[in-house]
Amino acid sequence: MKTLSVADKRQTASQQEKITIENTVRVEIEDEPPSRLFASYNPEEEPPGKTTTGRVRYFGNIPDSSWNDWKWQFRNRITSVERLSQVMSLSADEQAQIRLVTRRYPLAITPYYLSLINPDDPDDPVRKQAVPSIMEIAMSAMGFEDPLAEKEDSVVPGLVQRYPDRALMVLTDICPMLCRHCTRKREWRHGGWVRTDAEIDTMVDYLRRNTAIRDVIISGGDPLTLSTEHLESIIAKVRAIEHIEIIRIGSRFPVVLPQRIDTELCNMLSKYGPIWLNTHFNHPHEITPESAAACDRLLRAGVPVNNQTVLLRGINDSVETITKLCHNLLKTKVRPYYLFQCDEVQGTEHLRTPVQTGIKIIEGMRGFTSGLAIPHFVVDLVQGGGKVPLQPNYVLSMTDEELLLKNYEGQVYRYRNPSSQSYDEKVMAATVSGVVPSLLDDAARPLEVKGVTDANRVIVRS
Ligand code: SF4
Repeated sequence: MKTLSVADKRQTASQQEKITIENTVRVEIEDEPPSRLFASYNPEEEPPGKTTTGRVRYFGNIPDSSWNDWKWQFRNRITSVERLSQVMSLSADEQAQIRLVTRRYPLAITPYYLSLINPDDPDDPVRKQAVPSIMEIAMSAMGFEDPLAEKEDSVVPGLVQRYPDRALMVLTDICPMLCRHCTRKREWRHGGWVRTDAEIDTMVDYLRRNTAIRDVIISGGDPLTLSTEHLESIIAKVRAIEHIEIIRIGSRFPVVLPQRIDTELCNMLSKYGPIWLNTHFNHPHEITPESAAACDRLLRAGVPVNNQTVLLRGINDSVETITKLCHNLLKTKVRPYYLFQCDEVQGTEHLRTPVQTGIKIIEGMRGFTSGLAIPHFVVDLVQGGGKVPLQPNYVLSMTDEELLLKNYEGQVYRYRNPSSQSYDEKVMAATVSGVVPSLLDDAARPLEVKGVTDANRVIVRS
């Protein structure tokens, strides 16, 4: 079978990209109009169940049957400033600013995620991730449209291969919420699209022909915006490729619309393991009974959940916040995996922190909490250079004989550096010096049993 070179594939991908965007406007979510801002609910019909303060505050007596239905949540996303100002108090200035920003960077917030916002706190960390800020356009000259050069690494439309053994399938650009710090903000302007069946087949064909690929990441946008049935048809094709060992799904649904993680989805995923899911909690306020239950359902379906936090100015940029987030993740049985430096994306500069902030956060955690709670702090390099882990400098000096190491309390220790000689060379050197014969003599001595001899007791050598 003829194999295309990477250059050929990239050319083909770029030629097809334009066609792809034009041909893939096929949104999966049922095309029903949003409820008339929740006003049609008749409280006599069905009493609300376990309501939370935010849910009642913003949306009144929404019945559980609607609130817990992910498609209802999706249909009723807040996507305009008019709608937002109906549920949240916004000054005329704020409304004008949001209107201006959304011309370039649209707005979408699920009712569930909105319910987590404290309306009395203008600096609420959930609000800052969801509600547009004028800074998105005021500082938009800084950064890149596509800092990770994902377009250049596309081998066929929608499939990114940066490393020999991994590939990323971008199935859609639709997300339940538009996070203000998103790396793929450039995609928002294209409206909602989902890859066609023909495009999926081209991607699968590429994966099938490239036997070095063992790990496929299914991402977007958010791939869980696809119906479970459609998603299954894609996962089944990928799983059928013998050399694909693991499938990873990147999704923020557990955080912004946990109702999506329903029994139907979990049952489907459980058939195609090993599947891992990487999600994106950024603040302890996002860990709620609903999101914890969603992660639990995934785990029970055999899908381990990792978390990738983005470090965001004024949202989570302190040792206390990240430590609390990671502790709560562990309590939710989610592994804190990465802490990302916010990418150099146009429209996000106001949310980016100095790199030193991330290093200081890791330094403030190491030694003060269990290692399992500490994520890898990582910078994703521009132009597709890949991820670079950064950490505080604990190595003060290093020679072949010795290291000077600083511990978490700042104390300096000497550490003998084992020789790089091979084991055989060491034995020979020791034999010559007479050390080995004396060790053999020692080993030949009979065991001395101390205390009462008992068949159930382990006899230890004195
Ligand atoms: S869920 Fe991910 S891809 Fe979607 S807007 Fe948020 S950060 Fe971007």
